[in-house]
Amino acid sequence: MTKIILKDIDDLNTLEVYEANGGFSALKKVLKEMKADEVIEEVKKSGLRGRGGACFPTGLKWSFMPKVTDKPKFLCCNGDESEPGSFKDREIFERNPYQFLEGTLIACYAMGIKTAYIYIRGEYYRWINIIEECINQLYKKGYIGKNVAGSSFSTDIYIHKGAGAYICGEESALMSSIEGQRGYPRVKPPFPAQFGLWGYPTTINNIETITNIPEIINRGSKWFASVGEPKHPGTLLFGISGHINKPGVYELETGTPLMTIINEYCGGVWRGKSLKAVIPGGSSVPPLTRDEALKAKMDSESLKEFNSAIGTAGIIVMDQDTDLLEVLTRITYFYFHESCGQCTPCREGCGWMLRILRRISEGKGRMSDLDLLISVADNIEGNTICALGDAAAWPVKWTIRKFRGEFESKIQKEEIELPNINKVHSIRHTDYYT
Ligand code: SF4
Repeated sequence: MTKIILKDIDDLNTLEVYEANGGFSALKKVLKEMKADEVIEEVKKSGLRGRGGACFPTGLKWSFMPKVTDKPKFLCCNGDESEPGSFKDREIFERNPYQFLEGTLIACYAMGIKTAYIYIRGEYYRWINIIEECINQLYKKGYIGKNVAGSSFSTDIYIHKGAGAYICGEESALMSSIEGQRGYPRVKPPFPAQFGLWGYPTTINNIETITNIPEIINRGSKWFASVGEPKHPGTLLFGISGHINKPGVYELETGTPLMTIINEYCGGVWRGKSLKAVIPGGSSVPPLTRDEALKAKMDSESLKEFNSAIGTAGIIVMDQDTDLLEVLTRITYFYFHESCGQCTPCREGCGWMLRILRRISEGKGRMSDLDLLISVADNIEGNTICALGDAAAWPVKWTIRKFRGEFESKIQKEEIELPNINKVHSIRHTDYYT
């Protein structure tokens, strides 16, 4: 199985080991042999798509940055990794940080950027310490700063620590956070390439996306495009958790069958149990039923067939005894808690969905609650400033649609007294913090 991100790695890839294995050859190659436009073209031809969840073509995103401008331009590397079930970027920070930093320098060169920020959630102090040390070493060796690797190109890289909010992983909230403001998402357009950090052109890329770049330069776009599924080429870091014998992060080609990952790499569902459901890409994406999981391939296009998405490739496995009502209530609580509160559908809708789910859990649900939940989710979806609203709506809508029988069995009484609607509306945000 091809490896791009975690090749030749046992533990932390030190600078000496990384260089001995050809590290920074891609950076030297672009600085000596390639014009900035040629680098962008190469990334475009590779077919690399963003690994943060949206799967947007990376080369295309880079090409949106203005080429001729007297304004400063910025790169933000998004290491806020906070989606439940997603823990892939930590493998890069902890095991292969120099490949990520080499990719960052190549991205800066390609887009003519002189300042890059690496945004890392503040609680992940271990990653912050590792990256800080790596950046210091690279400044000393002349790979970062003035005249990168002896060239005429100069750039600086800074770490920005987040304060610990899921919403700051959303690209416009991330920029607000770097600017020192509350991490509020912004209405788009304007998009970051036109109006980003402090109003200047900015590109935001996920850590794993950037870490692919040196191999694309070293081995060529044609080679990269030939790995895995043609419409979503390369490898993915699959973070697998839940009811599985060998949880962990596995780098595998896109298009790998889900059951191959579960059975061959992860030793199967734990305790000899059978599979009930799988969330294939972090808590925000719709779950797969057992029958769907048996057929699913893990790439962005294949999962569309099952009304799901690859997201961050964070796979959560659930065995036959899993209480999906409990799972859905916990996921909904997460998005309710993390909503920044700017948009009414997200702020209020998440609370409504949580309240209804808790009502069912307490044995006070009604059959009509299931359609009510789907209706609330439908009214959140697509009606908010950022994708957190969708992230909250999708699990509710699709878990109920796909596992309706299980939810119906939880509803004991068909008719119970309707709750006081005023009470529903007056629920306080803080009521759920404990
Ligand atoms: Fe905030 Fe939710 Fe609106 Fe996003 S969708 S801006 S998190 S209220």
